[in-house]
Amino acid sequence: MPKRRPDHVPTRTCAVCRQSHPKRDMTRIVRAPDGSIHRDETGRVPGRGTYICQDPACRDIERSAAAVKRALGTEPSPETLDIKGAPHATT
Ligand SMILES: [Zn+2]
Repeated sequence: MPKRRPDHVPTRTCAVCRQSHPKRDMTRIVRAPDGSIHRDETGRVPGRGTYICQDPACRDIERSAAAVKRALGTEPSPETLDIKGAPHATT
């Protein structure tokens, strides 16, 4: 009987560095049907998505904006890509 692979996790390719990482460690950026760009906190937002990993270099807003524009064809707002801080951080 084939063993399950407990270490198998779905991976996605980072739009910035092009390396694969576990999907749960990625930030998903999605282009909604109306063309707007959103950060997808749930992984369930419909639309065409791309992923950014947790590498600080990939979270640089200018680099990630360029990568998202390349992947989705639309330039996101800086607010959408402000993913350096914790998701729950409020000011
Ligand atoms: Zn990356």
